[in-house]
Amino acid sequence: MFRLSILSAAAALFVCLLLVGCVTSPRVGVCQHTHGSPDESAHGQYYFVVPPAPKQEDGTSDPLDDRMIVIEDEKFTLTYPAWFTRRVPLEVILKHIDDSFKRVEALLGKFDRRVEIFVPGSITADGLPEGLMILGLCWMDDGQIKVAVSLPAARVIDTFAHELLHARLRDLGVQPPRWFEEGMAHMLESEDGFNADLFQLLEQVGMMTNEELEAAARGITSDEMRLRATGWAIAYYLVHVRNTPLKDVATSSEFPDLDEVWKAVSEAAKLRDVLARLAA
Ligand SMILES: [Zn+2]
Repeated sequence: MFRLSILSAAAALFVCLLLVGCVTSPRVGVCQHTHGSPDESAHGQYYFVVPPAPKQEDGTSDPLDDRMIVIEDEKFTLTYPAWFTRRVPLEVILKHIDDSFKRVEALLGKFDRRVEIFVPGSITADGLPEGLMILGLCWMDDGQIKVAVSLPAARVIDTFAHELLHARLRDLGVQPPRWFEEGMAHMLESEDGFNADLFQLLEQVGMMTNEELEAAARGITSDEMRLRATGWAIAYYLVHVRNTPLKDVATSSEFPDLDEVWKAVSEAAKLRDVLARLAA
């Protein structure tokens, strides 16, 4: 499934693979996460780009820079381009990965399978709309769970936690509706599950209706972010307001009343504002 080719001109490493559904995240304004199966794919082919290492002060290249560091952990294998350690130290990446595993496992239990994690410089896709960046990916490759998080996104815990939520659901063999899975993944991006960006979006444009969610389940949507935000609100309501175990939420085929969800999420937002003011 993997095809590796070294581009001599740019000395860039491309890993080309056939992938999965494609969707947007509000963080950084424009970015993408993706998961699923090839038939969900909006773009088809994804490319991992590792830019060449900057030259040393004397103008020569350090051959060590072209290497990949491979870390074998109990839960994961991490492949990290050696020269990236000059940008983000390996310890920082490993800490984010460890913290992300803890966050996901606290809600969904320990992973049964190892996860292969790769950190490229960036991730691109055929036909990707201009201005969109893919921050992370999770996919299955011949039974192996794989995650990629681009270097800019790897500086923070959020994207690892988001992708590891997808990974754990693949590990469990659970496949919720894509928009709802993305909502759950966005919930994992913060420690308390509240996603201020998505809440703000919903305040502006409102949650999707049941009819729109049904249409979206059939692949018809023109508003991916609103769809994800609605998924996040439902997941947040069930897990953090109703205290439903996330495993039950992920396997549920019934969704709560959307007006009730919005009311509860709005109240949670107000409470957060009050607590923030008190703490200030
Ligand atoms: Zn995602």
